[in-house]
Amino acid sequence: MEYKLDDIIEMKKEHPCHKSKQWRIIRMGADIRIKCLGCGNSVLMPRSEFERKLKKVVSSEE
Ligand SMILES: [Zn+2]
Repeated sequence: MEYKLDDIIEMKKEHPCHKSKQWRIIRMGADIRIKCLGCGNSVLMPRSEFERKLKKVVSSEE
């Protein structure tokens, strides 16, 4: 699946805040940081874990 910085994505599991299933990719490297669009908290995880949990890319800016 193609994804890049600033994309809005959906994860298989929603954030415990239950406000949104959507996240924005705010940092990309060996680790990826995503920010919950519901509450604004961010989570850092290894790229391999991110790809396992990624459900779909919702919107991608060209
Ligand atoms: Zn949240």
